[in-house]
Amino acid sequence: MMSEMTLIDGSEGEGGGQILRTSLALSLVTGEPFRMERIRSRRAKPGLLRQHLTAVEAAQTIGAAEVSGAALGSLTLEFRPGPVTPGNYRFSVGTAGSATLVLQTILPALLTASGPTTLTLEGGTHNPMAPPYDFLARTFAPLMDRMGPRIELELKRPGFFPAGGGLLQARIAPVKRLAPLILMVRGSIRRRQAKVWLSKLPSHVAERELAVVRQELNWRDTECTVENVAHPLGPGNALVLDLETELVTAVFTGFGERGRSAEEVGRRAVSAAKTWIEADVPVEEHLADQLLLPLALAGGGAFRTTKPSLHATTNAAIIQRFLSVVIGFEQENATGWSVHINTR
Ligand code: ATP
Repeated sequence: MMSEMTLIDGSEGEGGGQILRTSLALSLVTGEPFRMERIRSRRAKPGLLRQHLTAVEAAQTIGAAEVSGAALGSLTLEFRPGPVTPGNYRFSVGTAGSATLVLQTILPALLTASGPTTLTLEGGTHNPMAPPYDFLARTFAPLMDRMGPRIELELKRPGFFPAGGGLLQARIAPVKRLAPLILMVRGSIRRRQAKVWLSKLPSHVAERELAVVRQELNWRDTECTVENVAHPLGPGNALVLDLETELVTAVFTGFGERGRSAEEVGRRAVSAAKTWIEADVPVEEHLADQLLLPLALAGGGAFRTTKPSLHATTNAAIIQRFLSVVIGFEQENATGWSVHINTR
């Protein structure tokens, strides 16, 4: 029996948590069980961490799955899903681990579930190496809406490493079938906004980050804001840059960390934004790897982006293991690539 399962090698390509999340997401959608070995073996701390375990638990709960190997540090997991049941769920990472990555694990299955779902997720909402809440709310969710479903997101409380304790709510109104999405042309930037999240940190941190934005991108004072977190649980900081075009809002984030200067946080966000602006493509690097799965579920789509990351190519390989789609990456010029997703 077990040998019939789809076997996924967690050390492939990027070798991180995304291989696990994509496998869980697609196993829920297709009903296909899988066995995964060498989980996150290219990471300094391999195996399932708290955040990944919460993702497994969330997938297990919404999909009535039989699971073995779901333990802290485990390198192997078997996941055999049942039917996906929409409804009200609450999942808590329990550390500052990313709550948004837990959402992305179960969201695909809920987009085409038999009824609406309300998710309450607790954990980190602004973690380095994960989509921050702002990206989900203003880049990702509006694009999913264009594919048919409605996703309403609400940030009840931001959560930063190491204290965590963030809280976000997602209301998902599904559709029967996702519509394909085509994002080939960027168009002009019609609104810009820089926002600094500040939690239990002095205001000069925000001022220095915004100074980099003004200086390097020539943004005006009216385009720069600071949000001091009410009732903060611990220190935290992120600089979020929104660049809104007709089709998509690109969100770039610099994450504050102990030992990283405010100027460096500013430069990181600005440099990511500049790369995207200069490439003249609609889809930035992170959105590219995250769009592959919904477009594959829709059975088609295409977009233009910057050079595909290892996350993107690895995700494409895993998606093609579960779904009958072909994902092609093609370089168009020095900075632009096109990505096409077609049914096989
Ligand atoms: P690991 O579990 O291996 O430690 P991880 O679980 O943190 O890693 P990755 O496999 O590294 O996750 O995947 C991170 C995901 O977060 C990717 O989809 C990536 O595009 C997304 N991401 C990272 N940084 C940003 C950002 N600044 N904005 C939007 N999305 C981001």
